[in-house]
Amino acid sequence: MNNIPLTDGDASFYLSDLSPKDKSWDAHKDESREVSSIYTQAQNEKYAERIHHCSQSLEFRILIDDKQQTHLKLHSARFCRVRLCPVCQWRRSMMWRARFLKALPKICADYPRGRFIFLTLTVRNCPLEDLRETIAWMNSSWKKMTMRKNFPALGWIKCIEVTRSEDDMAHPHFHCLLMVNQTYFSRGYISQSDWTKMWKECLKVDYTPIVNIKRVKERKQKRKQIVDSVNDSNVNNCDNTTVDTSVDDIIAGVFETIKYSVKPDDLIGTKTAKTSPQDWLAELTRQLHKTRSIALGGIFKEYLSEDEPEDLINADIEEETDLDEEEYNYIFEWREVMKRYAYKESVNNK
Ligand SMILES: [Zn+2]
Repeated sequence: MNNIPLTDGDASFYLSDLSPKDKSWDAHKDESREVSSIYTQAQNEKYAERIHHCSQSLEFRILIDDKQQTHLKLHSARFCRVRLCPVCQWRRSMMWRARFLKALPKICADYPRGRFIFLTLTVRNCPLEDLRETIAWMNSSWKKMTMRKNFPALGWIKCIEVTRSEDDMAHPHFHCLLMVNQTYFSRGYISQSDWTKMWKECLKVDYTPIVNIKRVKERKQKRKQIVDSVNDSNVNNCDNTTVDTSVDDIIAGVFETIKYSVKPDDLIGTKTAKTSPQDWLAELTRQLHKTRSIALGGIFKEYLSEDEPEDLINADIEEETDLDEEEYNYIFEWREVMKRYAYKESVNNK
């Protein structure tokens, strides 16, 4: 990070210039403003207002490492917590990744023979009006599958994602990360076609659903390094879509599993679609109201809880550090015209 000016109100200093790792704030906040205005068109003033004011200003604490490099750490912000707010969805997925990656070293130590597989389960696209029911049916089918004798996972995490198809249908699917015993690959191995068959039976459908299964590769002897790299604060920029190659594939698997429940592009929609963005968003909001996007099972429940309060502030992966803190916190404010967060003032944090 470059040196921060101490002149209050000098709006020519932007968060993304001072701290490149925080660049994504600008993009997510901009998407949120767009979603807010679609809620206005959908006459949902309450959500429009809440999202409009989401994370309007961000207060960062300045940490200095032993090489005198400064780092920004989010100290406070006001989140709207609306389910489909792009900023809040982003923070929520980061928070889950961070929680999971924090638990990972302990899980790997307790289950040294644990290996990871990545499973994607889909069903046929459904009309948006049927989304809620479809998700409930997929969840009960998943439950059936986990109760089968040959279900191999010791622990699993399942995230639901809903995309929008070109013909204006909803495409709900599950991304799951499963931890299996390494013997799974020699005994009890389930091929792609067997996974497909199993999912089809649990769904009780007459078509063949698309199922993807992939082993999360793990280079030998890297296991310890993996654990160390998770603990290393250099992975605190956890919203990068490309994962640093030094970071293990398990982490990539976690990133691939825990993402947005609805991508901002699929919220905003295209102008060519038959359904207007406001009708789509209004219905999607109704359909997803109070549905859970992330679920855990098996031994993962001993390490993580779905019911823990959401901490959208401390969503970075970094461990507790003993870096020196500067006496002042820096506040950045959203500038609508520039579509960027600009430096506003510093406040004494003592
Ligand atoms: Zn929000």
